[in-house]
This record gives sequence, C-alpha cells and structure tokens, in this order.
Amino acid sequence: MEEEQLSDGAIHLSGPELIAAADGEASEGIVSHLRQCALCRQRVTTLRNVQQALRYRLYRALCPSTDQLIDYCQGLLSPAQHALVARHIASCPYCSAEIELLMQRDPLIDRLLLSDLLNQRVLRYLR
Ligand SMILES: [Zn+2]
Ligand SMILES: [Zn+2]
Repeated sequence: MEEEQLSDGAIHLSGPELIAAADGEASEGIVSHLRQCALCRQRVTTLRNVQQALRYRLYRALCPSTDQLIDYCQGLLSPAQHALVARHIASCPYCSAEIELLMQRDPLIDRLLLSDLLNQRVLRYLR
C-alpha cells in the first residue's frame, strides 16, 4: 500500500503501519494519527476484521471433526491423537468452546432429566 497525500499535506498510515495498528503494535505516532483520522481508523477496523476472518478459517481448516472431539471427551482417542487434539484445543477458541458444550452433556444430568421425564409419565399415568 502506498502512502497517500492528504489535501492538507498530512500523510496517511502505510500498509505496514495499518497492520501494526491492527495487531495492537502501533507506535505513538501511529496512535496519534489514528486518534484524528477516521479514514485510517476505518482501515484498521477493516484489516482487523479480515485478519479475524482469516484466522477463523485457518482454525477451522485445522480443526478436528466434532466426532473426534466427542471421542476426545470420552477418552476414546489413542494417546498420540489425544495429545494432538489437546494441543489443538489449547490454541483454538472455537474447539475449546465446542468442547465446553460437549462437556456440558453430563451423563448424570441426562439421567436426571430422563428420570424426571419418566416420573412425569408415571404421574400422568397415576392420575
Ligand atoms: Zn489517515
Ligand atoms: Zn479448532
């Protein structure tokens, strides 16, 4: 990205400067420019969104399948696979969120719900 000349002679942030800002590594000069320049602020926001989208796609491309995650939760993977998935989850917000969801399917809670349903059916039967 080439530097652009503003009508008042000021120079907008360059590509690498915008990327640094999106990464949260902006120098003081960049920060003070962003404070007064809506255009560069907008560009930083766009860059950040693109980076997030890229990261998201990267994560999902490398992600284990849900089946693998379920096997992981139930300890059905081989030790090597288990270690691999564990390492992935540690660095992947999407899979760790999925694991959290899977873990919430507590068999004890399922059983309680089931017995609750059965009780209701029994009660209805008795009425
Ligand atoms: Zn600017
Ligand atoms: Zn993942």
